[in-house]
Amino acid sequence: MSSKLNSLEKSPHILVLGMGGTIAGLAPNPADQPLQYQAGQLKVESLLTHIESAVPKSLKLISEQVANINSRNLTEGLLSNLGEVVRASLANTEVLGLVITHGTDTIEETGVFLQLTCGNYAQILGKRVILTGAMLPSNASQADGPSNLLDAIRWASTPLDNCPGGIYAVMDGRGCMAMDLAKRHGTALNAPIQASPSSSVGLFNPSWLWGVKAKQAAWTEDLPIPKGDEWPWVEILTSHAGARSETINIWLNSRVKGLVLAGSGMGGLHDAWKDSLVAAVKQGVALVRTTRTGAGATLSDIPEKDLDGCLASGTLSAPRARIALQLALNAEKQAQLTGKSLTWQDFFARIAVLPEFR
Ligand code: ASP
Repeated sequence: MSSKLNSLEKSPHILVLGMGGTIAGLAPNPADQPLQYQAGQLKVESLLTHIESAVPKSLKLISEQVANINSRNLTEGLLSNLGEVVRASLANTEVLGLVITHGTDTIEETGVFLQLTCGNYAQILGKRVILTGAMLPSNASQADGPSNLLDAIRWASTPLDNCPGGIYAVMDGRGCMAMDLAKRHGTALNAPIQASPSSSVGLFNPSWLWGVKAKQAAWTEDLPIPKGDEWPWVEILTSHAGARSETINIWLNSRVKGLVLAGSGMGGLHDAWKDSLVAAVKQGVALVRTTRTGAGATLSDIPEKDLDGCLASGTLSAPRARIALQLALNAEKQAQLTGKSLTWQDFFARIAVLPEFR
C-alpha cells in the first residue's frame, strides 16, 4: 500500500481518498468515553495499514489525503476539490474504483454532490465510488471504521456483474446510493443509512438494484462543479409554530441567492411567511420547499398550490436540496455564459423528479 498522487501511479489500483471524520478520529480515553473524541486525527494511509492483512495481496491500494476535518466543518471549497479529484481519478484508466473515507455528519451533502456532478460519468465508465465513515473513533474497542472500510474496498473492486458503476455508500454492512444518504440518528452504527433504501453489501437484493438502475437511467447528464468561490449562497430555514415574517425578511437585505424552506408535514409553510416569500421571488431569490419530517417526498402543489417560483424538492432532504439548488443555480449561470437560456428551475426539476424507491 502506498500514498502518492494517483496521477503518478502506473498500475491498476483502488484509490482511497481521505476526508477525515470519526473513522480517522481518536478518543483520549476510549475505554470510558469512546464518544468523546476528536475527528480527523489519523491519515488515511494509516487507516489502510490497520486493515492491510484482510485485503487480498493482488489488490493494490493507493491513498490520497484530500482533507482531514470534522465534517461538520465541511466547506463548499472542499466539495469542489473533492469533486475535481473524483472526476480526474475516474478518467484515469489505472483507477479501478474509488473509496472515500468521510465524516458522517455531512456525508449526506457530499453524497448528493458527487451523484449530481460525477454520477453519470462513473456509470458510463463502469466504476464505483464508495463513501464510508464510522460512528466510533478508530481507537474505540468496537470501532466500526475498519469493517466499513473493508466493505467499501471490496465493493469498489468487485467486477460489475449486476451492480453498475455509480456513486454509493456503505455503513454497517449495508449499501445505498450516495444521494440517498441521510443521517437520522446521533449514535446508531447505521445512522447515515438507516432511513435510506439500501441492501446488504455483496448480496444485493434485486428490487434495490432495480431502483438504482431506474434512478441512474433518469440521470443522464452531470452538472458542472462550481469553482471554490463560485458557490451561490443558499440557506435552510425551518417553518414552525410561531413562525415570523421577519425570518424571511431579514434575508431580503442580504446577498442570498436561494432559500430551502423546510416545511411541516408534506412541506407546508406557515402563512406568516406568505407575503415575504412573494417578495423574495420578486427579488429573484430561488425558493425550494421540502419537509422537516426527515422522510417522505415533497410533491408539487401538495398539500396546496405552490407559490409561483417555488419548487418542491421531491425526495431531497433539506441538506440535499440545498446542495442541489446551489448546483442548479451554478448550472444556470454556466448555461447563460454559453448562450443557453436554461434556468435553475430546469436543472432543479431534473433532480427533483428522480424516481423514489424503497
Ligand atoms: N461525528 C462525525 C462522524 O461520524 C464527525 C464528522 O462528521 O466528521 O464522522
